[in-house]
Amino acid sequence: MSETNRDPARHTTPPARDDAFTLFDLRVEVIGTDRPMVCNHQVGDYFTLRGENLAFPAGQTFPLYPLAALLPLLPAKQRPTHPNDWMTTDADIACPDPHCGGRFRITRTGTTTFRHADVTLVPLPPTPEPS
Ligand SMILES: [Zn+2]
Repeated sequence: MSETNRDPARHTTPPARDDAFTLFDLRVEVIGTDRPMVCNHQVGDYFTLRGENLAFPAGQTFPLYPLAALLPLLPAKQRPTHPNDWMTTDADIACPDPHCGGRFRITRTGTTTFRHADVTLVPLPPTPEPS
């Protein structure tokens, strides 16, 4: 899976049909609570996610254990969810260290449109004939 086409020849043939899909771009930012931070994350530290790519500001680190706790949630937050789904409304994630006051706020900052053919080699199923 890749959001960037590493083989320019793949773009020479237009898709047989529209294979576009849209994902939310995410920003995950450390927010504070009334409890002290234990891990090496500071209020305002953040990273972004666009497609499959995490990006961190130059020189900023992010601790492994909170990142591991956040990763399973991010693909769900990238996708449209039902308005009543808790995945839509809940945005603050607790640090997995039970002694740490850190929280991580996941914000949908925009959208990016991708093409199926650019991110997988698995073909789309045939389109049913209109009846
Ligand atoms: Zn923490």
